[in-house]
Amino acid sequence: MLCWAAGLGDCGGGQSREHLISAGVFGGDRIFVHGFPWCKGEPKEIGLPGLTAKVLCRRHNERLSLVDKCAQRSAIAVNAAADLMETRQRMGRRRWVNVKRFEIDGAMMERWCTKTMVNLLLGENKFCEPSLPIGSDSEVPGRPSERLVRAACGIEPLNHGAGLYLLVPDEVNLYSGRRVSFTPLRSENPKFVAGLFRFIDLIFMLWLDPGGPPDDLSGPVFQGEQLGHMTLLPRFPDPQLKVKIGEHLSHVLAVKW
Ligand SMILES: [Zn+2]
Repeated sequence: MLCWAAGLGDCGGGQSREHLISAGVFGGDRIFVHGFPWCKGEPKEIGLPGLTAKVLCRRHNERLSLVDKCAQRSAIAVNAAADLMETRQRMGRRRWVNVKRFEIDGAMMERWCTKTMVNLLLGENKFCEPSLPIGSDSEVPGRPSERLVRAACGIEPLNHGAGLYLLVPDEVNLYSGRRVSFTPLRSENPKFVAGLFRFIDLIFMLWLDPGGPPDDLSGPVFQGEQLGHMTLLPRFPDPQLKVKIGEHLSHVLAVKW
């Protein structure tokens, strides 16, 4: 049986077939994935059934399905914020008396990104060749370190600089939809050390290793955007995306920790 959480020692229920990216997030059966060699730089539309693999046992799959439900709620919040932006843009410039607040759960989002990143980088999926150890503390190509498994399963959160960061562009534009994109970053040794996610229209960086990302992010480009042109927000205080219409604050999308 194949299960990437087998190191926890409590596999059970037999093999399950897992969606590598949870279907529930998108409310449909097709998604876009970027950043893999087979995409050749172009967004590629794939059916979700094509993104399933036998990577977890049934018990661990069930434990992680909680994370998917939370990602689905986060997607609803992001889309609601995007829809409000569009509505208010049509209403024209004014001072908004009712500054609305939308929230997504940071701890669960971090677990969803960790789980999804591991799913997509597992050696047997061959999405990313050559297959590399996932996290600097993993020695096995195509396998996550035990620390990352524990984080995905909610046993011990990522800490000491490892974890989820929100990247905020100078000019915030939100469009609703059901897009997800993922690009892995690798170190020179080489191992996978981080992943960039566009979740609907939020950009997250999941930094796998203690110590956190470097101060200078002017190197990596994600979907044509220079990361160095964005502000990297750590988890404290709660990162916020401030949506302005004209010069006035309309609403806030916050990652709540
Ligand atoms: Zn298992």
